[in-house]
Amino acid sequence: MPEPILSARGITKSFGALKASDDITLDLRAGEIHAVIGPNGAGKSTLIAQLCGGLAPDAGTVQFLGHDVTREGTAARARRGLARTFQISALAMEHSVIQNATLGCVGATGTPWRIVSRALRRGPLRDRAEQALARVGLQDHAATRVADLSHGQRRQLEVAVALTLQPKAFVMDEPMAGLGAEGSAQMTRLLHDLRHEAPILLVEHDMDAVFALADRISVLVYGQVIATGTVDEIRAHPEVRAAYLGD
Ligand code: ADP
Ligand code: MG
Repeated sequence: MPEPILSARGITKSFGALKASDDITLDLRAGEIHAVIGPNGAGKSTLIAQLCGGLAPDAGTVQFLGHDVTREGTAARARRGLARTFQISALAMEHSVIQNATLGCVGATGTPWRIVSRALRRGPLRDRAEQALARVGLQDHAATRVADLSHGQRRQLEVAVALTLQPKAFVMDEPMAGLGAEGSAQMTRLLHDLRHEAPILLVEHDMDAVFALADRISVLVYGQVIATGTVDEIRAHPEVRAAYLGD
């Protein structure tokens, strides 16, 4: 078994009396899509925040590429190559597609802000941003204002911003959210290919997408992982069917 790229070991997080993460252990291995599913309020976003550095766990550790990053913030983890996308869009709506991608790149590399305006015009960061746009199919929309993109294109741009990091792992919070059938199919194709560049921890409600993409699925209920397995194992799991699939 290869060393996991990203792992949570026994992480626990309470908000008052509520245990939003209850002794969660899971890992993300090279080349895989590991989906995390669970009902609303199960603790998926809380788990992501702890993996990516937005929230410190009360107990337990987070390891990334063999380093204990539990006490590191999001920027430090991003510089190590941990890229995330958000459930709610975090794009600058009044700026262009290429500006968003380049600024993501600037933030990720820790480039001093005084050279931002230069980076937006030319140079390696701009090149990297253009490559990321091409990767998600937005190369013809570089000059478009984000506000004028379709919802599906915005979700693709979020993936492009994450790609500018040249990540070693992705953490994605509901990339299919709000997408129609066509948008979901496009995003599914994109993620299918991306996993070979960097593994993806995928929190997603769209079960068609999860079943099409996931190598492994973990099921989170009330802050606990109640099962981890392949698509077939999870589909057949009685507790999962009862708790989540609505049997
Ligand atoms: P999910 O993403 O699976 O829908 P969340 O991680 O957002 O679940 O939330 C898990 C639980 O923790 C919910 O009951 C939610 O209300 C609670 N919670 C999340 N963040 C906070 C917070 N900052 N303060 C208090 N309660 C929170
Ligand atoms: Mg959530």
